Amino acid sequence: MDHEKIFREGLFKIYETNKRVLIPKEEYYKIISDLLEVSKTSKKTPHQYYILKKYEVLQCGDINRLIRRSQHEEETPLYFISIEETYEVVKRGHIATGHGGQDKMVHELSKKYANITIEALTVFKNLCVECQRKRKRAATKGIVVKPIISKDFNSRAQVDLIDNP
Ligand SMILES: [Zn+2]
Repeated sequence: MDHEKIFREGLFKIYETNKRVLIPKEEYYKIISDLLEVSKTSKKTPHQYYILKKYEVLQCGDINRLIRRSQHEEETPLYFISIEETYEVVKRGHIATGHGGQDKMVHELSKKYANITIEALTVFKNLCVECQRKRKRAATKGIVVKPIISKDFNSRAQVDLIDNP
């Protein structure tokens, strides 16, 4: 079972219902080339105004990355990532937080990334074998512990009946 594939398909399903946050790879590079085009045109289209307000291109070595347009110069860049890249990034965040839950992961990932959604984290966590195992262990414990207590309680009650005629 390929977790990355399942994750990506899950994200594309979310993308189908809301196209404002998640960005497929193809669209990601289209936005970058559109942004680079903007400077060459004198009259801007509404689309160009929209992407100019939202994004900025940051050159990292010979790779162009999409970042959130910052309001202040000194702001640390918040990176947009494509749907195709999200699995690796979320995986790294999940491991870095020691299989952290939603809150820990949001805290960790929102420092650096602009478009990782809560739904994406949920999809990921449901796929994590280690987290599933932990959940299963907790569930099994709950089931096992209960009968032992009630059995113990019953046998003690029986002893009491015998001892006090
Ligand atoms: Zn995990």
